[in-house]
Amino acid sequence: MISSHPQAAIVIENLNHFYGQGNLRKQVLFDISLQIQTGEIVIMTGPSGSGKTTLLSLIGCLRSAQTGSLQILGQELCGASNSQLVAARRRIGYIFQAHNLLESLTAQQNVQLPLELHGIPFKQTQKQAAEMLSAVGLAAQVNDYPENLSGGQQQRVAIARALVSRPAIVLADEPTAALDKQSGRDVVELMQHLAKEQSCTILLVTHDNRILDIADRLVQMEDGYLLSNIQELAA
Ligand code: ADP
Ligand code: MG
Repeated sequence: MISSHPQAAIVIENLNHFYGQGNLRKQVLFDISLQIQTGEIVIMTGPSGSGKTTLLSLIGCLRSAQTGSLQILGQELCGASNSQLVAARRRIGYIFQAHNLLESLTAQQNVQLPLELHGIPFKQTQKQAAEMLSAVGLAAQVNDYPENLSGGQQQRVAIARALVSRPAIVLADEPTAALDKQSGRDVVELMQHLAKEQSCTILLVTHDNRILDIADRLVQMEDGYLLSNIQELAA
């Protein structure tokens, strides 16, 4: 399906979301509308429980949208089939609070993984993973296992893994939550730099006020509602 918004990477209109069935059915997202342009970096803030992770998981095609409209890269995903969701996920990079690296794989093997899933030949996955790790300042750590890396280094491996397949969209859920001030800053500046280089769209959820200035635009969630689009506040 072709989008009527050719410049927008993400177009959400009147999206609602419910958890549970029957008596336990509970609405957690209310009438969300949001557009994010290609190449834009948007930061989403809001209290715990306000629906940020739920919204991110819908945009990331990690759960399926129920009512309203959700267009990702020009494709309608509300009511999409499982195979359509799987295909859409291939164009998205994910960075979570806990880095979710595989402990039994080296830094380089962790970064190679998404490329292998894309069916890229092994030699080439090695080369691209090494280049991406070098871009995040970890050229000397390619053969280290996660347990031998600092928290900041682990999160940089996670960023390399999210960006190595050059996704059109990167979704990050509290990526600096487990990091000290300087590592947190380094990590988001790196994301910003790499994203601008690859002209990729970023939506980042955070409680961390110290990183808001990397955004082109801030949006805020409260009690399941998107409160505001605060334009250029970071400028
Ligand atoms: P945030 O990321 O802003 O903290 P969440 O999206 O995680 O918010 O949660 C929004 C609301 O949905 C909360 O009330 C939470 O308890 C509820 N919720 C989150 N995940 C589930 C789930 N899998 N099943 C039922 N309720 C959930
Ligand atoms: Mg959350």
